[in-house]
Amino acid sequence: MTAAFTARTEQAIGDRTLKLAIDRTTGTARAKRAAAVADWPGFEQARELGRDIKDHVIAHLGHYLAEFERNAIASGAKVHWARTAEEACDITIRLCRSAGARSVTRAKSMLGEEIGLPHALAAAGIERVETDLAEHVVQLAGDRPSHIVWPALHKTREQVREMFAREHADPGPLDSVEAMVGSARRQLRMKFMAADVGISGANFLVADSGAVCTVTNEGNAELTTTPPRVHIVTAGIEKLVPSMAHATVLLRLLVRSATGAELTQYTTFHCGPKRPGDADGPDEFHIVLVDNGRTRMLREGLAEMLRCLRCGACLNHCVVYRQIGGHAYGGTYPGPMGAVLTPLLDGLPATQDLPRACTLNGQCAEVCPVKIPLPKLLRGWRDRSWREGLPPRTEVFGIGVWRFVAARPALYRLATRLALRSMRLFARGGWIRSMPFARGWTAHRDFPGPARRSFMEQIRGRGR
Ligand code: SF4
Repeated sequence: MTAAFTARTEQAIGDRTLKLAIDRTTGTARAKRAAAVADWPGFEQARELGRDIKDHVIAHLGHYLAEFERNAIASGAKVHWARTAEEACDITIRLCRSAGARSVTRAKSMLGEEIGLPHALAAAGIERVETDLAEHVVQLAGDRPSHIVWPALHKTREQVREMFAREHADPGPLDSVEAMVGSARRQLRMKFMAADVGISGANFLVADSGAVCTVTNEGNAELTTTPPRVHIVTAGIEKLVPSMAHATVLLRLLVRSATGAELTQYTTFHCGPKRPGDADGPDEFHIVLVDNGRTRMLREGLAEMLRCLRCGACLNHCVVYRQIGGHAYGGTYPGPMGAVLTPLLDGLPATQDLPRACTLNGQCAEVCPVKIPLPKLLRGWRDRSWREGLPPRTEVFGIGVWRFVAARPALYRLATRLALRSMRLFARGGWIRSMPFARGWTAHRDFPGPARRSFMEQIRGRGR
């Protein structure tokens, strides 16, 4: 492991408050998802259907992109294409400037984080107001999201209460979660009405109508996209679905996997700007379609990752994420899906630790609503980092020694016996508290003492 990753994980593991915050939220999320799945007898068939819908779109991406663009333009939208994160930010900033925007509201979008839109807006001197409650917390704290569904998961409610008391203009009493939400609502309400531009992401892009679907539980996407004169959508090209019927299948999978609910409180299909006779809506409706490595994923054996609905279930069930939280991953996307995406977005040499930190226990693939084989994709990155000679020399040497010994059964048996004997020297009461050359294993927990007989001796014993 690199020193930077080790430092981040050690800091996270030593943070008791962080552990409490992670346990609270992911524990609730796992329980709610399990109940929702148990309540839906057709869940497994729906997963297969969801996987097939996404695979079909990915296999015909050019066709559906063209269809979506045609129908979006017909509904009055303006469609822009961005190959990279920089292009996506440049287009968005240009649109904000041509609208004369001084203040923009933003509904939560992981793509916005991925392309660095918050920084681009700040650099352009445009005030950014995050309107999702958790993103509001993250913005007040000057922090980064640590979960793709609950960006402020790393904050306890006690920490949020203190921050609202300090930062809100009119906090009022903050003695309950409802009161804290009320305080944030008062703070944000005036910003919604004053914004010149509203920026949202997209959960789905519906090809046969050109509609953009957003789902929230707070209604903030609707308040972000309706009052301002200009609505800008930034969306990854993998968000396409052929029709509303297909979007509905994926919506049911997404929401149950993310929060355990049947549907989010608000599911909105945005179709172009305000038309004559409409009570409200933006005068201009722009859609920025972003590649930023997605077509490269097709070429580099990562097409299955384009199925991702950003539901967060793999994070909630990941034993590594639940120990270290999101910031330790160092990229935009944490958890198993982040360990697959970050090497593609930020380069393998700088991020090779992420696939290598995985235990490959397979829980993430078990819960993924679109059956993404995450462990297989993580193993692919490990293979590649090995082929490119990226792992540290000590590890390469260690594996080389192991390979030499493992290919010679007599030598392997001898080495195992010697290893067991030397481990027994350090065991006390069935546990090893410290061992030379293996301090990394015993620094944070005790290591079980060795069994009386090796695995192969036990197997041989059974055969008799
Ligand atoms: S990889 Fe699967 S489980 Fe993880 S966020 Fe994406 S869709 Fe959800």
